[in-house]
Amino acid sequence: MADLPNIHVPSLIARKRDGSPLLAEEIATLVSGFTAGTVPDYQMAAFAMAVYFQGLDDAETAALTSAIIASGKQFAYPPGHPRVVDKHSTGGIGDKVSLVLAPLLACDDLWVPMVSGRGLGITGGTLDKLESIPGFDVNVKMAQAIAQLEEIGVVMMGQTAEFCPADKKLYVLRDVTATVPSIPLIVASIMGKKLAETLDALVLDVKFGSGAFMQNEANARKLADAMVATGQRHGVTTIAILTPMSEPLGHAVGNALEVDEAVETLHGRGPADLRKLTLDLAEAVANVDRSQLEQWLDDGTAFAKWQEMLTAQGGDPASSGKLASHIHRAPVIRDVLAKSSGTVTAVDAQQIGQASLELGAGRATSDATINPAVGFDQLVKTGTLIKTGDLLARVHTRTNNDADLAAKAIHDAVQFEK
Ligand code: URA
Repeated sequence: MADLPNIHVPSLIARKRDGSPLLAEEIATLVSGFTAGTVPDYQMAAFAMAVYFQGLDDAETAALTSAIIASGKQFAYPPGHPRVVDKHSTGGIGDKVSLVLAPLLACDDLWVPMVSGRGLGITGGTLDKLESIPGFDVNVKMAQAIAQLEEIGVVMMGQTAEFCPADKKLYVLRDVTATVPSIPLIVASIMGKKLAETLDALVLDVKFGSGAFMQNEANARKLADAMVATGQRHGVTTIAILTPMSEPLGHAVGNALEVDEAVETLHGRGPADLRKLTLDLAEAVANVDRSQLEQWLDDGTAFAKWQEMLTAQGGDPASSGKLASHIHRAPVIRDVLAKSSGTVTAVDAQQIGQASLELGAGRATSDATINPAVGFDQLVKTGTLIKTGDLLARVHTRTNNDADLAAKAIHDAVQFEK
C-alpha cells in the first residue's frame, strides 16, 4: 500500500459530521487504521453515523470502496483467462437465483468466482443454502478458488479472513450501531466485495418491496445508481436490474427446500418466475444469447456443471434433488388449505420471510445455527384461482406447534379477492 498521510481522526469525523467532503487518502487512512486496530471501534462507529446522516458523494463512496478492497487480497487470474463475471442480489425471500445462475454462466466460456453471504434479517443467504448440501465446503481459500475456476469455471464461497477484512469488521459495527441502512455504506460494502473478485462484468439484482432491504422502487433506484456508478468508476461493466420482492421468488422458502427448487430449475423445470429472473440476469453478462442459456438449462448441461461444482467442493452429488425429501426431512410436513375461494392478490414476502426465520431457517443471533429442513414449499403464487380446500402451501417444521404458527402465517400472508 502507498504511504498514507497522518490524520487526526476526531477532526476527520467532525468534518464529515458537518457535511464536508473527505479526501480519498483520508478515507484510505481511516479504513487501513481501522483494519489494523489503530483506529478504535468507537471512532469508526462515529464515522459510520456521520456518514449515515451526511452521506458520501460518488468520489468518497468510490474511495471507501477502494479502501475496503485494499484491506485484503484480491483475486488475481493467470494471463489469457476467460471473462470473469458475477451477480449480486440485494436479498429477498426465496431468492435462490445464484444457485442456478453461477453454474449456468460457467457453461459459457466464463469464470464465476461467486463470494456470497449468509442470511441477513429475514432474507436468506446463499452460503446457508449451500451448507444444506452434505459435505459442501464454502470455506475456500483464494488459491484453491482460482484452481477450481481453471478446472470448472465456477466456485461458490464465503468471505474468508483474507478477503475485504475491513468490510467484515465494519459490518459488525454497523449492525450494532444502527448504521446498516445507509446507501453509501451499503454500496461500499457490497461493491468492495464484488470488485475484490476482479471482475470484467457484474450484474446487480436490486430488489424492492415488502421482502427487500429497499421497500420502495425509488430507493432501490438510488441504490442501483450508486452501485453502478461505483462499479463503472472501478472499470467494471456494471448493470443493475430492479426487480420486485413483494412475493417470494418461486414456491419454496427455506434452505434445503430452496436448493431442491434450484436443482429443479437446473433440470429445465422449476418455477417460471425463478427461471425468467435467472435468465434475465445471466443474459446481461453472458457471451451467448438467451436461447443458448435456455438450452443449457433444458438439456442438462447446467445441471452437470452444478454436479461438478458440488464434487469439487466436497458436496455429495447424489444428494441433488433429495435434500428436503430425504436428507433434511422435517419432522412435521403439513398442508395448509384455503378457507375460501378467490383469486390470490398477494403473498406477502415480508410475512413469509419472518415466519421462515422464526421456524429456524434464519438466525436470531449472529452465532445461532440454522435449521436446513424448515420452511415452506408449494407456496401459491399471486394471480392463482383458488377454491376452498386447495393447497396454499406446505409447511416444514420441527414441531406441531411450529406448524400451527406457520399455517397461521400463510393464512395471514396470502390475500384473496372473491
Ligand atoms: N450486504 C452487504 O454485504 N453489505 C451491506 O451493507 C448490506 C448488505
